[in-house]
Amino acid sequence: MASFDDRDGWVWFDGEFVPHRDAKVHVLTHALHYASCVFEGERAYGGVVFKSREHSERLRMSAHLLGFKVPYSVEEIDRAKAELIKKQGFENCYLRALAWRGSEQMGVAAKRDDVHVAIAAWEWGDYFADKMKGVRLMIAPWRRPAPDTSPCNSKAAGLYMICTLSRHAANDAGFDDAMMFDWRGQIAEGTGANIFFIKDGVLHTPTPDCFLNGITRQTVITLAKKSGIEVKERAIFPNELQTFSECFLTGSAAEVTPVREIAGLQFKPGALTEQLMHDFSALTRRTNA
Ligand code: PMP
Repeated sequence: MASFDDRDGWVWFDGEFVPHRDAKVHVLTHALHYASCVFEGERAYGGVVFKSREHSERLRMSAHLLGFKVPYSVEEIDRAKAELIKKQGFENCYLRALAWRGSEQMGVAAKRDDVHVAIAAWEWGDYFADKMKGVRLMIAPWRRPAPDTSPCNSKAAGLYMICTLSRHAANDAGFDDAMMFDWRGQIAEGTGANIFFIKDGVLHTPTPDCFLNGITRQTVITLAKKSGIEVKERAIFPNELQTFSECFLTGSAAEVTPVREIAGLQFKPGALTEQLMHDFSALTRRTNA
């Protein structure tokens, strides 16, 4: 597979479609030096972007939390995404929308930098190679920072530094991904997905008070409640791990991915995980039918 910058097709870039290979930025770009960039990861099913509006709203909110304004409305971003996948002829694909500060000012201060927006899309299968078998997680060597040390509700590029380090540590040790604790030592999430546990037919998931309240997470909670499953959003501590029977990750890329091990502790993807995987996949198909 060619490198991501060397493909056919189109990228929506500041309001226009440009050939994929020409969608470039200069080395003197504030975002590259100071991580003044926010992004979205989304999926389209059957040619329609799932929860497009929620993702466009979050992109604008993420930028706002970093102190800059996305110069396109939610409607304009939604339209750009829809046109992009249509132009590429994609039915089922992944989309990356991003907004970043440009080159007018190259120091810590960035208020005079123009804001750019781009959207790319590519055809992509499962996030984890062994998704259906269940993934194996290690405990991450890094923790989610406290809310007063990072803009934790922003899907900001800079916050992924510790995710990449944690994911690499996990992969180097033979695991699929890492589960991150938060700054207090409570269970937080994966490196690119939220986490859920099941005990006695009840769903438990950490309160998103220092990490993203994922769009997939919210969707799964709604689906669970609709089928009468009790959901407890609460602080979850590492010593509780052994009391849970099932575990899964949720995210736009990961969708609903069963977890079969966390650092030596085994979980058996069971009926509830299967039901939620099924309900999520039915919803993505139905929403776009
Ligand atoms: N946490 C992190 C760190 C993520 O990168 C993601 C993926 N965006 C999520 C949670 C899940 O968010 P969503 O369901 O909105 O994709």
